[in-house]
Amino acid sequence: MKTIIKNIKCLVGCYDKAPARLCGKEMSYCPTLSQAFVAIDDGVIESFGPMTDCPPCDGCYVIDATDRFVMPAFCDSHTHIIYAGSREQEYEDRIAGLSYAEIAERGGGILNSADLLHATPEHTLYRSAMRRVRSMMHGGTGAIEIKSGYGLSLEDELKMLRIATAIRNDASIAIRRTFLGAHAFPRPYRDDRDGYVRLIIRDMIPAIAAEQLADYIDVFCDEGFFTPDQTRRILECGLEHGLRPKIHANELALSGGIQTGVECGALSVDHLEHTGPAEIEALRNSDTMATLLPGAAFFLGMNYAPARAMIDGGLSVALASDYNPGSSPSGSMQFVLSLASIKMRMNPVEALNAATINGAYAMGIEKSHGTITPGKRANIIITKPMPSLAYLSYHYADDMIERMIFN
Ligand SMILES: [Zn+2]
Repeated sequence: MKTIIKNIKCLVGCYDKAPARLCGKEMSYCPTLSQAFVAIDDGVIESFGPMTDCPPCDGCYVIDATDRFVMPAFCDSHTHIIYAGSREQEYEDRIAGLSYAEIAERGGGILNSADLLHATPEHTLYRSAMRRVRSMMHGGTGAIEIKSGYGLSLEDELKMLRIATAIRNDASIAIRRTFLGAHAFPRPYRDDRDGYVRLIIRDMIPAIAAEQLADYIDVFCDEGFFTPDQTRRILECGLEHGLRPKIHANELALSGGIQTGVECGALSVDHLEHTGPAEIEALRNSDTMATLLPGAAFFLGMNYAPARAMIDGGLSVALASDYNPGSSPSGSMQFVLSLASIKMRMNPVEALNAATINGAYAMGIEKSHGTITPGKRANIIITKPMPSLAYLSYHYADDMIERMIFN
């Protein structure tokens, strides 16, 4: 049955033909239409326009969106939602002033998440991750990228990616899977880091490619983690197996991660809290999206990425939740928009574009997601009654989403 959303106060992000992404100044523009309709047929946006052109509604499922904004669902291009347990003990320890080493000793950190994941059955992990997917969908998200990286052994990385594949097959929204074996160095390789890099290249990547368990490859390229040289070796092997890079870079230092990502043709470089003029220059005129994760900076009390300098420098910026148990235990993209505006001075339109059209680009689904465009998937947010678009992120931590449509 055809669905028609009618009497829309303001239809946001509507394009007859959408660009692949928005860069620099383009990010502060978003096409809108007042008193509008959207027609959906068979899960796909069929048409939109002013109410004066609304097609007859007989036999259609009709939604009245009087006083409401209608916009494309968020595309959350960076998450770690497959994990066991939770890490609020670490959160309490940090509040109490414990050091990173003391926290790790008491059960915090990536290695402890890996121990817990190892001990948890696949179906339990699947069920908890699916609960997170459903709650993110309720909060306005219509596409999710999911990373491995709490396995850190061949067996457990495969386990995580099989769960991600099951989620992709069962969820009613687009899911993209990223192999992040290079998230940290597991204990047996503490003194033989190149040995772990060899294990990733020789055993993990070929096995994952053979089972077609991933769409992208990721490396935590930063000070104290994987060096630019190790990152390059892993990414080149991934590319040979058909996995395009999407990497963690420059969260902890000016580590060379951004430049390494651009040189390896990464679809996105993510985090970027430490970004200077040289990094902005490297990203300018590249195909690589700068993906910012303000939830992690907020939760850990760290510096935010210099979004203003990036956008003013002409870059293309995306926003994602980084949903994970250690540094960002939330999948709320509405809160991410608020942080982007309050903490990084992105105006509300830039933030919305970063979470929709540019988020879709950062996960390689821009042809089917990210805007209200005929032919794209009908993944749509209907807000509660709102006076203006800025109200969505102004009313921070209040759920302004009334209803979601998926396909
Ligand atoms: Zn991450």
